[in-house]
Amino acid sequence: MRKDYEQHFAECPHCRARQKFHRSLDGTLAVLTSLAVFFFLFALAVLKHIKPLEHVAFNVFGLDISDMYHMLVSAGIAGLCFSVIALGLVLMATPASSYLGGIAVERAKLIEEHLPAAIKSLRPR
Ligand SMILES: [Zn+2]
Repeated sequence: MRKDYEQHFAECPHCRARQKFHRSLDGTLAVLTSLAVFFFLFALAVLKHIKPLEHVAFNVFGLDISDMYHMLVSAGIAGLCFSVIALGLVLMATPASSYLGGIAVERAKLIEEHLPAAIKSLRPR
């Protein structure tokens, strides 16, 4: 079945273009969801950093920052969970991981080919 698929992709430019488009879509989704994970982690880190300022704001402005802070932290954690789940779904439901892995392997090979001979000889075989 897989062989038939691959043969058809090799022969049919239409399907090959479609496959390429969907692969790039999968890759984009994977990148976007991992970016979302990163940004939510960043937001939580920032909130953690802001915590000491909270008391200043509370005393100076008399604001109930604490409630707001807890709300933001909950939103951050919820967002983080959601984006981790989304990333997991993307990686499971699409061939994005193997696709991106393939790209990484290709890049690594390319970089290795362009290494100067002096460095190449230093690398263990
Ligand atoms: Zn076709």
